[in-house]
Amino acid sequence: MITGEYEKLQEIAKYNVCSEHKANLEVAWVDKHWVLRCGADGGHYPASVTRNPSLVQMFKEGEELPGPIADNVRKRLTKEAKMVNENKEGTSLALLPKVDLGSGVQLTEKVITQLVNYAKKYDLDPELGHVVFMYGKPYVTLDGYLYHARRSGAAYSLESRPMSGDEHDAYNLGSTDYGWLATVTLIITQEVYTGLGIVTYKEIKEPSKNDPQLPAHPVVANNPQLLCQKRAEWQALRRAFPLEGE
Ligand SMILES: [Zn+2]
Repeated sequence: MITGEYEKLQEIAKYNVCSEHKANLEVAWVDKHWVLRCGADGGHYPASVTRNPSLVQMFKEGEELPGPIADNVRKRLTKEAKMVNENKEGTSLALLPKVDLGSGVQLTEKVITQLVNYAKKYDLDPELGHVVFMYGKPYVTLDGYLYHARRSGAAYSLESRPMSGDEHDAYNLGSTDYGWLATVTLIITQEVYTGLGIVTYKEIKEPSKNDPQLPAHPVVANNPQLLCQKRAEWQALRRAFPLEGE
């Protein structure tokens, strides 16, 4: 079990910084427990963490990047989109995934147009993955909400952490399930919005209907903890920065 805990914390340290100091994290052995530690103040044990966005992430969230960097990111996204859209009919929207990300079914031109209109209605960018089609429905992604929050101009902080053992029990989660809690705090009003993220072991292990050797939900299966954290962030952001009429 100790190894499992260490690995989980290692993964958190890889994608996150200390919420308070925005400093890198390491996993330390303290009082017979593995804990996260940041380097600030001669060793600080943060209660919550904040995801450290990659350049691609920043670009998708609408952050202004220097021209050559933005160009490189766009090139990379175009390459990724080409892989997702391989053998799919072309449209002018090169970066838009042309498949239902839940079922894998190819989207028709009509559905793609719907999706684009849906994004426009909320001032989101379909080519930056702000909206996707998931099991037959349009869906605003975490990147979409981060972009929307940035455009609102409101200063806020976003923090998250894995559930404690007691919280884990309170939500009836098994020892192999993941649970995260996120909070958005609006800096000026100090209003707090919370979000809950859960990834179940069943969801991780569910085999694909087409090929039982493959997972049904590859994104969940490959990075369950990161996805769980993102789900919690998504819910907190959705509550703090709702899209009117969504
Ligand atoms: Zn710290």
